[in-house]
Amino acid sequence: MKKNTFLVILFLIIKVAGSAQSDSIIRRIVLIGDGGELTNGHHPVAEAVRKTIPLNKQTTIVYLGDNIYEKGLPAPQHPFYNEAKIILNSQLAVADSAESLVYIIPGNHDWNDAHKGGLEAVIRQQKYVDDSIAKKNVKFYPERGCPGPVELPLGNDAVLVLFDSQWWLQADEKPGEGSGCSCTTKEALINKIGEIIAKNTGKLVLVASHHPLKSNGVHGGYFTLKQHIFPLTDIKKGLYIPLPVIGSLYPLLRSLGVSRQDLKNSSYKKMISKLENTAGSFPNVVFAAGHEHSLQLIKDGSHYNIVSGGGCKSTRVKKKKNGLYAADSPGFSVLEISNTNQVTVSFYTVGERIQKTYSGLLFRL
Ligand SMILES: [Zn+2]
Repeated sequence: MKKNTFLVILFLIIKVAGSAQSDSIIRRIVLIGDGGELTNGHHPVAEAVRKTIPLNKQTTIVYLGDNIYEKGLPAPQHPFYNEAKIILNSQLAVADSAESLVYIIPGNHDWNDAHKGGLEAVIRQQKYVDDSIAKKNVKFYPERGCPGPVELPLGNDAVLVLFDSQWWLQADEKPGEGSGCSCTTKEALINKIGEIIAKNTGKLVLVASHHPLKSNGVHGGYFTLKQHIFPLTDIKKGLYIPLPVIGSLYPLLRSLGVSRQDLKNSSYKKMISKLENTAGSFPNVVFAAGHEHSLQLIKDGSHYNIVSGGGCKSTRVKKKKNGLYAADSPGFSVLEISNTNQVTVSFYTVGERIQKTYSGLLFRL
């Protein structure tokens, strides 16, 4: 009898301690970017999130674009259509039997790899997610190829702001004047994001887009001797054809911003400076993005930048002074708000094992 009483008390202590621990997180946002490819028919990062993160009402999952490589969701008659659907379905399977909400935004690859036909491709993917997959806890934003921003309050403590950074960078064929979008110019988009930030002081404001404002990876201009001598390895792993001198042109041109997908590009630079100015001195704003196939935490100036593009691949990233964390590994990140208003970020790498490789306090609300 005594032994039983002891066991009951022990059980209650463990249960109370356990629930106190999980109750201490009042809000959780999982960030997965660039998840548009399967590995042996599986999506290891989406599966890792299902295994490690409580998918309850406190949790929101955001897919940060480049959801289907290389060109987004093609038309139904295209030979790749069924495979593309499976890639998307595998990611959105995290919503099944979960209480969490799942949001998905587009990246440059979802806009037909930033080529002509991009608008059709991004609308096709949005309609497929919203009308065909049609899960009650999954939503593709922004709708109809519009830039956004979409403001999504998460309880009383956080606001998620989603916008389509590829709309900004896309050269043509994008909704503008007369499209019916809530913002039809770059100026209107920035102003609206500024309005949302200004009215949400005291909350975590997570501004999420596909393209990062800071990066110490490939798009941020990180090249090694390998790219100078074997530039083709950036196009295809293992393509070791030595092209010295000519090879150096490749990193040089990219450092000059010839690609709209690199942070040095003039249009991209303008987007960065406008957003940073808008966020100004509001320390509660955090920027999150994918695009780079790496995991990074950067504090440069007033704001934290999370790069969480390890959804299915990995590419090189340099550890720099402003980089608090960097990993060239598949994985994901998690922002959490505790009941004592602490905002923390954790990074998980996904390989043979799932490992929490970094956890740090950003600020207190
Ligand atoms: Zn991208």
